[in-house]
Amino acid sequence: MIEAHQSPDGEAEVLLASEKLRLPEDILILHFIATGLLQLRDRLEQDRFIRLPYPYALQRGLDRLNAYCFRKGFPLVLSMVELFEWCRRPLSAWPLNYELAELDGTDVLLDETFPTGICDSLACVSSDIEADLSEQLFIDAVFSLCKKAKKQESYVAFRRLFIEYPVLTDLTFHEQFLLYPSLKLLKELLSEAYEPATEECLFDDGYYYGCPYCKGLLLPLRNGQRSVCENEFCRRTPKFQQPLQYQSDQGVKRLKRGLRRYISLPGQAEVWLAQQLSVLGIVVELWPEFDSYDVCARFPDGKTVWAIDVKDWANPYLLAHHVEPIPHNPPWTRAYYAFPEKRRLFHPDYPRAFSATCNSLKRAGTGHVEIDGMHYYAAFDADVVAAAQAYLQGGKGNANTR
Ligand SMILES: [Zn+2]
Repeated sequence: MIEAHQSPDGEAEVLLASEKLRLPEDILILHFIATGLLQLRDRLEQDRFIRLPYPYALQRGLDRLNAYCFRKGFPLVLSMVELFEWCRRPLSAWPLNYELAELDGTDVLLDETFPTGICDSLACVSSDIEADLSEQLFIDAVFSLCKKAKKQESYVAFRRLFIEYPVLTDLTFHEQFLLYPSLKLLKELLSEAYEPATEECLFDDGYYYGCPYCKGLLLPLRNGQRSVCENEFCRRTPKFQQPLQYQSDQGVKRLKRGLRRYISLPGQAEVWLAQQLSVLGIVVELWPEFDSYDVCARFPDGKTVWAIDVKDWANPYLLAHHVEPIPHNPPWTRAYYAFPEKRRLFHPDYPRAFSATCNSLKRAGTGHVEIDGMHYYAAFDADVVAAAQAYLQGGKGNANTR
Protein backbone atom coordinates (compact mmCIF):
# COMPACT_ATOMS: atom_id res chain seq x y z
CA MET A 1 0.00 0.00 0.00
CA ILE A 2 1.21 3.50 -0.69
CA GLU A 3 1.62 5.25 2.58
CA ALA A 4 1.30 8.93 2.13
CA HIS A 5 -0.61 11.34 4.26
CA GLN A 6 -0.80 15.05 4.28
CA SER A 7 1.62 17.11 6.27
CA PRO A 8 1.65 20.75 5.29
CA ASP A 9 5.08 22.07 6.13
CA GLY A 10 5.10 23.85 9.46
CA GLU A 11 1.48 23.31 10.41
CA ALA A 12 1.20 23.11 14.14
CA GLU A 13 -1.99 21.04 14.06
CA VAL A 14 -0.25 18.15 12.37
CA LEU A 15 2.39 18.13 15.05
CA LEU A 16 -0.19 18.22 17.78
CA ALA A 17 -1.40 14.91 16.37
CA SER A 18 2.18 13.62 16.62
CA GLU A 19 2.32 14.65 20.26
CA LYS A 20 -0.55 12.28 20.96
CA LEU A 21 1.57 9.35 19.78
CA ARG A 22 2.43 7.01 22.60
CA LEU A 23 6.15 7.34 22.04
CA PRO A 24 8.64 7.85 24.84
CA GLU A 25 9.77 11.52 25.14
CA ASP A 26 13.28 10.56 23.96
CA ILE A 27 11.91 9.15 20.70
CA LEU A 28 9.31 11.90 20.26
CA ILE A 29 12.14 14.47 20.31
CA LEU A 30 13.93 12.54 17.57
CA HIS A 31 10.64 12.27 15.66
CA PHE A 32 10.22 16.07 15.65
CA ILE A 33 13.82 16.71 14.63
CA ALA A 34 13.65 14.07 11.86
CA THR A 35 10.37 15.51 10.55
CA GLY A 36 11.89 18.99 10.50
CA LEU A 37 14.98 17.75 8.65
CA LEU A 38 12.84 16.20 5.89
CA GLN A 39 10.78 19.39 5.57
CA LEU A 40 13.96 21.45 5.39
CA ARG A 41 15.39 19.17 2.71
CA ASP A 42 12.19 19.60 0.66
CA ARG A 43 12.49 23.38 0.92
CA LEU A 44 16.12 23.24 -0.16
CA GLU A 45 15.18 21.12 -3.15
CA GLN A 46 12.61 23.70 -4.20
CA ASP A 47 14.34 26.97 -3.30
CA ARG A 48 18.02 25.97 -2.91
CA PHE A 49 18.35 28.18 0.16
CA ILE A 50 17.06 28.01 3.71
CA ARG A 51 14.30 30.49 4.32
CA LEU A 52 13.47 31.34 7.90
CA PRO A 53 11.72 30.50 10.08
CA TYR A 54 12.89 26.91 10.30
CA PRO A 55 10.16 24.27 10.00
CA TYR A 56 7.96 24.21 13.09
CA ALA A 57 8.86 20.56 13.77
CA LEU A 58 12.57 21.34 13.86
CA GLN A 59 12.11 24.23 16.29
CA ARG A 60 9.79 22.09 18.42
CA GLY A 61 12.38 19.28 18.44
CA LEU A 62 15.17 21.64 19.45
CA ASP A 63 13.07 23.19 22.24
CA ARG A 64 12.08 19.79 23.62
CA LEU A 65 15.65 18.52 23.37
CA ASN A 66 16.84 21.50 25.37
CA ALA A 67 14.10 21.10 27.98
CA TYR A 68 15.18 17.44 28.28
CA CYS A 69 18.89 18.38 28.56
CA PHE A 70 18.06 21.00 31.18
CA ARG A 71 16.07 18.52 33.29
CA LYS A 72 18.83 15.92 33.11
CA GLY A 73 21.71 18.36 33.62
CA PHE A 74 23.23 17.97 30.10
CA PRO A 75 24.67 20.96 28.17
CA LEU A 76 22.11 22.72 25.96
CA VAL A 77 22.17 22.80 22.14
CA LEU A 78 22.69 26.49 21.53
CA SER A 79 21.68 26.97 17.92
CA MET A 80 20.08 25.30 14.92
CA VAL A 81 23.52 25.05 13.30
CA GLU A 82 24.74 23.12 16.35
CA LEU A 83 21.68 20.88 16.09
CA PHE A 84 22.61 20.03 12.47
CA GLU A 85 26.06 19.05 13.73
CA TRP A 86 24.41 16.78 16.29
CA CYS A 87 22.33 15.18 13.54
CA ARG A 88 25.56 13.99 11.90
CA ARG A 89 26.76 12.41 15.16
CA PRO A 90 25.86 8.83 16.08
CA LEU A 91 22.89 8.49 18.41
CA SER A 92 25.22 7.11 21.09
CA ALA A 93 26.63 10.65 21.42
CA TRP A 94 23.17 12.07 22.19
CA PRO A 95 21.87 12.25 25.77
CA LEU A 96 18.64 10.49 24.68
CA ASN A 97 17.77 6.86 25.36
CA TYR A 98 17.60 5.81 21.70
CA GLU A 99 17.41 2.12 22.66
CA LEU A 100 13.76 2.66 23.62
CA ALA A 101 13.03 2.46 19.87
CA GLU A 102 15.53 -0.31 19.18
CA LEU A 103 17.67 2.22 17.35
CA ASP A 104 21.36 1.53 16.98
CA GLY A 105 24.01 3.68 18.67
CA THR A 106 25.79 4.07 15.32
CA ASP A 107 22.68 5.44 13.55
CA VAL A 108 22.79 9.07 12.39
CA LEU A 109 19.99 11.36 11.22
CA LEU A 110 22.07 13.09 8.53
CA ASP A 111 24.69 11.53 6.29
CA GLU A 112 26.44 14.74 5.29
CA THR A 113 23.42 16.60 3.90
CA PHE A 114 21.18 13.58 3.22
CA PRO A 115 18.53 12.55 5.73
CA THR A 116 19.10 8.83 6.43
CA GLY A 117 16.61 5.96 6.38
CA ILE A 118 16.44 6.14 10.18
CA CYS A 119 15.58 9.83 9.87
CA ASP A 120 12.81 8.86 7.44
CA SER A 121 11.40 6.18 9.78
CA LEU A 122 11.50 8.52 12.77
CA ALA A 123 9.60 11.14 10.79
CA CYS A 124 7.05 8.70 9.38
CA VAL A 125 6.07 7.09 12.67
CA SER A 126 3.19 9.55 12.83
CA SER A 127 0.76 8.64 10.07
CA ASP A 128 0.39 12.34 9.33
CA ILE A 129 3.90 12.66 8.04
CA GLU A 130 4.94 10.63 5.06
CA ALA A 131 4.66 12.79 2.04
CA ASP A 132 3.73 16.38 1.60
CA LEU A 133 0.34 17.71 0.68
CA SER A 134 1.02 17.91 -3.06
CA GLU A 135 2.01 14.23 -3.23
CA GLN A 136 -1.09 13.19 -1.33
CA LEU A 137 -3.26 15.25 -3.67
CA PHE A 138 -1.54 13.63 -6.62
CA ILE A 139 -2.07 10.08 -5.33
CA ASP A 140 -5.71 10.85 -4.44
CA ALA A 141 -6.27 12.21 -7.95
CA VAL A 142 -4.82 9.05 -9.55
CA PHE A 143 -6.99 6.84 -7.32
CA SER A 144 -10.17 8.69 -8.06
CA LEU A 145 -9.58 8.86 -11.83
CA CYS A 146 -8.79 5.14 -12.08
CA LYS A 147 -11.63 4.10 -9.78
CA LYS A 148 -14.16 6.27 -11.56
CA ALA A 149 -13.13 4.79 -14.91
CA LYS A 150 -12.91 1.30 -13.31
CA LYS A 151 -9.42 1.00 -14.78
CA GLN A 152 -7.30 -1.17 -12.51
CA GLU A 153 -4.91 -1.62 -15.46
CA SER A 154 -4.27 2.13 -15.60
CA TYR A 155 -3.47 2.10 -11.90
CA VAL A 156 -1.01 -0.79 -12.31
CA ALA A 157 0.61 0.86 -15.34
CA PHE A 158 1.09 4.06 -13.35
CA ARG A 159 2.80 2.20 -10.47
CA ARG A 160 5.05 0.32 -12.91
CA LEU A 161 6.00 3.51 -14.74
CA PHE A 162 7.18 5.16 -11.51
CA ILE A 163 9.16 2.07 -10.48
CA GLU A 164 10.81 1.55 -13.86
CA TYR A 165 11.34 5.21 -14.70
CA PRO A 166 12.09 7.47 -11.75
CA VAL A 167 14.12 9.32 -14.41
CA LEU A 168 13.24 9.59 -18.09
CA THR A 169 13.56 11.75 -21.19
CA ASP A 170 10.78 13.48 -23.13
CA LEU A 171 10.95 10.73 -25.75
CA THR A 172 10.69 7.86 -23.26
CA PHE A 173 7.81 9.62 -21.53
CA HIS A 174 5.82 9.84 -24.76
CA GLU A 175 6.71 6.27 -25.74
CA GLN A 176 5.12 4.96 -22.56
CA PHE A 177 1.66 6.03 -23.74
CA LEU A 178 2.10 4.07 -26.95
CA LEU A 179 3.41 1.02 -25.14
CA TYR A 180 0.79 1.17 -22.39
CA PRO A 181 -2.38 2.79 -23.80
CA SER A 182 -4.13 2.48 -20.42
CA LEU A 183 -1.79 5.22 -19.16
CA LYS A 184 -3.47 7.78 -21.42
CA LEU A 185 -6.18 8.26 -18.82
CA LEU A 186 -3.52 9.69 -16.49
CA LYS A 187 -1.43 11.64 -19.02
CA GLU A 188 -2.02 15.09 -17.60
CA LEU A 189 -1.42 13.98 -14.03
CA LEU A 190 1.73 12.08 -14.92
CA SER A 191 3.25 15.16 -16.56
CA GLU A 192 2.89 16.90 -13.21
CA ALA A 193 4.59 14.06 -11.33
CA TYR A 194 7.90 14.65 -13.11
CA GLU A 195 10.04 17.75 -12.86
CA PRO A 196 12.95 18.83 -15.06
CA ALA A 197 16.33 17.57 -13.82
CA THR A 198 18.07 20.41 -12.00
CA GLU A 199 21.50 21.83 -12.81
CA GLU A 200 22.70 20.55 -9.48
CA CYS A 201 22.60 17.04 -11.01
CA LEU A 202 24.35 17.97 -14.26
CA PHE A 203 27.91 16.62 -14.58
CA ASP A 204 30.79 18.64 -16.04
CA ASP A 205 30.76 16.49 -19.20
CA GLY A 206 27.24 17.73 -20.03
CA TYR A 207 25.43 14.48 -19.12
CA TYR A 208 23.06 13.44 -16.40
CA TYR A 209 23.76 10.06 -14.83
CA GLY A 210 21.32 7.61 -13.28
CA CYS A 211 22.16 5.31 -10.38
CA PRO A 212 22.51 1.72 -11.67
CA TYR A 213 20.77 0.39 -8.54
CA CYS A 214 17.78 2.64 -7.77
CA LYS A 215 17.80 4.47 -11.15
CA GLY A 216 17.58 7.89 -9.48
CA LEU A 217 19.73 10.81 -10.67
CA LEU A 218 23.26 10.88 -9.29
CA LEU A 219 24.77 14.06 -7.89
CA PRO A 220 28.21 15.00 -9.23
CA LEU A 221 31.53 15.29 -7.42
CA ARG A 222 31.26 15.73 -3.72
CA ASN A 223 34.17 15.30 -1.34
CA GLY A 224 36.38 13.72 -3.94
CA GLN A 225 33.76 11.15 -4.98
CA ARG A 226 32.81 11.03 -8.65
CA SER A 227 29.12 10.79 -7.98
CA VAL A 228 26.74 10.13 -5.17
CA CYS A 229 23.19 8.75 -4.93
CA GLU A 230 20.54 10.20 -2.62
CA ASN A 231 19.65 6.67 -1.49
CA GLU A 232 21.83 5.53 1.40
CA PHE A 233 21.76 1.86 0.40
CA CYS A 234 23.23 2.75 -2.98
CA ARG A 235 25.90 4.87 -1.30
CA ARG A 236 26.92 1.84 0.74
CA THR A 237 26.84 -0.54 -2.25
CA PRO A 238 30.19 -1.12 -3.99
CA LYS A 239 30.14 0.40 -7.47
CA PHE A 240 30.33 -2.44 -9.97
CA GLN A 241 27.74 -1.38 -12.50
CA GLN A 242 27.96 1.47 -14.97
CA PRO A 243 25.60 4.39 -14.36
CA LEU A 244 22.84 5.18 -16.86
CA GLN A 245 23.59 8.16 -19.09
CA TYR A 246 21.26 10.91 -20.33
CA GLN A 247 22.12 13.73 -22.71
CA SER A 248 21.20 17.06 -21.17
CA ASP A 249 19.30 18.23 -24.28
CA GLN A 250 16.91 15.25 -24.21
CA GLY A 251 14.50 16.87 -21.75
CA VAL A 252 15.56 14.80 -18.75
CA LYS A 253 12.93 14.66 -16.00
CA ARG A 254 12.75 12.98 -12.66
CA LEU A 255 9.93 12.09 -10.33
CA LYS A 256 9.28 14.52 -7.53
CA ARG A 257 11.02 13.51 -4.32
CA GLY A 258 8.06 12.16 -2.35
CA LEU A 259 6.99 9.99 -5.29
CA ARG A 260 10.54 8.65 -5.63
CA ARG A 261 10.73 7.84 -1.95
CA TYR A 262 7.24 6.45 -1.34
CA ILE A 263 6.36 4.82 -4.66
CA SER A 264 9.47 4.24 -6.73
CA LEU A 265 11.91 2.85 -4.15
CA PRO A 266 9.67 0.44 -2.19
CA GLY A 267 8.06 -0.51 -5.49
CA GLN A 268 11.29 -2.14 -6.62
CA ALA A 269 10.98 -4.63 -3.74
CA GLU A 270 7.29 -5.22 -4.56
CA VAL A 271 8.06 -6.04 -8.18
CA TRP A 272 10.98 -8.29 -7.17
CA LEU A 273 8.75 -10.28 -4.83
CA ALA A 274 6.03 -10.64 -7.46
CA GLN A 275 8.57 -11.90 -10.01
CA GLN A 276 10.05 -14.46 -7.61
CA LEU A 277 6.62 -15.85 -6.72
CA SER A 278 5.46 -16.09 -10.30
CA VAL A 279 8.60 -18.07 -11.18
CA LEU A 280 7.30 -20.66 -8.67
CA GLY A 281 4.09 -20.98 -10.67
CA ILE A 282 2.01 -18.82 -8.34
CA VAL A 283 -0.45 -16.43 -10.00
CA VAL A 284 0.50 -12.97 -8.85
CA GLU A 285 -1.42 -9.71 -8.98
CA LEU A 286 0.27 -6.45 -8.02
CA TRP A 287 -1.68 -3.74 -6.13
CA PRO A 288 -5.10 -5.47 -6.46
CA GLU A 289 -8.30 -3.50 -5.97
CA PHE A 290 -6.49 -0.20 -6.46
CA ASP A 291 -3.77 -0.91 -3.91
CA SER A 292 -5.71 -2.75 -1.24
CA TYR A 293 -2.32 -4.35 -0.57
CA ASP A 294 0.88 -4.88 -2.59
CA VAL A 295 0.93 -8.49 -3.81
CA CYS A 296 -1.90 -11.01 -4.08
CA ALA A 297 -0.43 -14.53 -4.57
CA ARG A 298 -2.85 -17.27 -5.68
CA PHE A 299 -1.49 -20.79 -5.26
CA PRO A 300 -2.19 -23.57 -7.77
CA ASP A 301 -4.44 -25.46 -5.28
CA GLY A 302 -7.10 -22.80 -5.95
CA LYS A 303 -7.71 -22.26 -2.21
CA THR A 304 -4.54 -20.69 -0.88
CA VAL A 305 -4.16 -16.95 -1.28
CA TRP A 306 -1.41 -14.93 0.36
CA ALA A 307 -1.66 -11.17 0.76
CA ILE A 308 1.69 -9.43 1.05
CA ASP A 309 2.38 -5.84 2.00
CA VAL A 310 5.97 -4.74 1.54
CA LYS A 311 7.24 -2.35 4.20
CA ASP A 312 10.51 -0.62 3.46
CA TRP A 313 11.29 1.11 6.75
CA ALA A 314 14.68 1.44 8.38
CA ASN A 315 13.35 0.68 11.86
CA PRO A 316 10.94 -2.12 12.89
CA TYR A 317 9.88 -0.56 16.18
CA LEU A 318 8.77 2.66 14.49
CA LEU A 319 7.07 0.72 11.69
CA ALA A 320 5.07 -1.28 14.25
CA HIS A 321 3.71 1.99 15.67
CA HIS A 322 2.51 2.93 12.22
CA VAL A 323 1.24 -0.28 10.65
CA GLU A 324 -2.43 -0.98 9.84
CA PRO A 325 -4.16 -4.34 9.26
CA ILE A 326 -4.09 -5.70 5.69
CA PRO A 327 -7.60 -5.45 4.15
CA HIS A 328 -9.43 -8.67 3.23
CA ASN A 329 -10.11 -7.49 -0.30
CA PRO A 330 -9.23 -9.57 -2.32
CA PRO A 331 -9.80 -12.27 0.35
CA TRP A 332 -6.70 -14.11 1.59
CA THR A 333 -5.85 -17.11 3.73
CA ARG A 334 -2.57 -15.75 5.02
CA ALA A 335 -1.10 -12.24 5.18
CA TYR A 336 2.49 -11.12 5.36
CA TYR A 337 4.28 -7.93 6.21
CA ALA A 338 7.41 -8.37 4.12
CA PHE A 339 10.65 -6.42 4.54
CA PRO A 340 13.19 -5.95 1.73
CA GLU A 341 16.13 -8.32 2.13
CA LYS A 342 18.59 -5.38 2.24
CA ARG A 343 17.21 -4.52 5.71
CA ARG A 344 18.61 -7.81 7.06
CA LEU A 345 22.11 -6.45 6.63
CA PHE A 346 21.64 -3.83 9.32
CA HIS A 347 18.83 -5.45 11.29
CA PRO A 348 18.96 -9.29 11.12
CA ASP A 349 16.33 -9.43 13.86
CA TYR A 350 13.88 -7.14 12.02
CA PRO A 351 10.83 -9.49 11.79
CA ARG A 352 11.05 -10.48 15.45
CA ALA A 353 11.43 -6.87 16.65
CA PHE A 354 8.51 -5.80 14.46
CA SER A 355 6.27 -8.69 15.63
CA ALA A 356 7.11 -8.19 19.33
CA THR A 357 6.32 -4.46 19.16
CA CYS A 358 3.07 -5.03 17.22
CA ASN A 359 1.95 -7.59 19.79
CA SER A 360 2.79 -5.50 22.81
CA LEU A 361 1.02 -2.45 21.32
CA LYS A 362 -2.02 -4.63 20.59
CA ARG A 363 -2.04 -5.93 24.18
CA ALA A 364 -1.77 -2.37 25.48
CA GLY A 365 -4.77 -1.41 23.31
CA THR A 366 -2.80 1.06 21.17
CA GLY A 367 -1.97 -1.14 18.17
CA HIS A 368 -4.14 -2.71 15.48
CA VAL A 369 -2.11 -5.69 14.34
CA GLU A 370 -1.30 -8.94 16.10
CA ILE A 371 1.38 -11.06 14.43
CA ASP A 372 -0.06 -14.39 15.42
CA GLY A 373 1.62 -16.83 13.04
CA MET A 374 -1.82 -18.14 12.08
CA HIS A 375 -3.03 -15.46 9.71
CA TYR A 376 -0.50 -12.63 10.05
CA TYR A 377 3.20 -13.15 9.52
CA ALA A 378 6.25 -10.93 9.37
CA ALA A 379 9.31 -11.89 7.30
CA PHE A 380 12.05 -10.71 4.99
CA ASP A 381 10.86 -10.90 1.39
CA ALA A 382 13.35 -13.63 0.46
CA ASP A 383 11.95 -15.71 3.34
CA VAL A 384 8.39 -15.20 2.06
CA VAL A 385 9.55 -16.68 -1.26
CA ALA A 386 11.21 -19.60 0.60
CA ALA A 387 8.01 -20.13 2.63
CA ALA A 388 5.93 -20.17 -0.57
CA GLN A 389 8.27 -22.74 -2.07
CA ALA A 390 8.04 -24.92 1.06
CA TYR A 391 4.24 -24.57 1.00
CA LEU A 392 4.11 -25.69 -2.62
CA GLN A 393 6.20 -28.72 -1.71
CA GLY A 394 3.67 -29.74 0.92
CA GLY A 395 5.21 -28.22 4.02
CA LYS A 396 3.44 -25.56 6.02
CA GLY A 397 5.77 -22.93 4.70
CA ASN A 398 6.50 -21.41 8.07
CA ALA A 399 10.28 -21.71 7.93
CA ASN A 400 12.39 -18.66 8.73
CA THR A 401 9.43 -16.38 8.88
CA ARG A 402 9.53 -15.29 12.51
ZN1 LIG B 1 20.78 4.84 -6.09
